[in-house]
Amino acid sequence: MRKKSVLACSACGSRNYSTMKNSSAAGDRLEIKKFCKTCNSHTAHLETK
Ligand SMILES: [Zn+2]
Repeated sequence: MRKKSVLACSACGSRNYSTMKNSSAAGDRLEIKKFCKTCNSHTAHLETK
């Protein structure tokens, strides 16, 4: 079963991306470097519930 997660910029809090992650990865909080148009740079994006 897959779960939908939202990735939010750790710098400004904007929710820029959504992702589907496998339940096997549940428990680990994702942290992915992605481009934030609000910050206009690449920042760490964290999974939100
Ligand atoms: Zn940002």
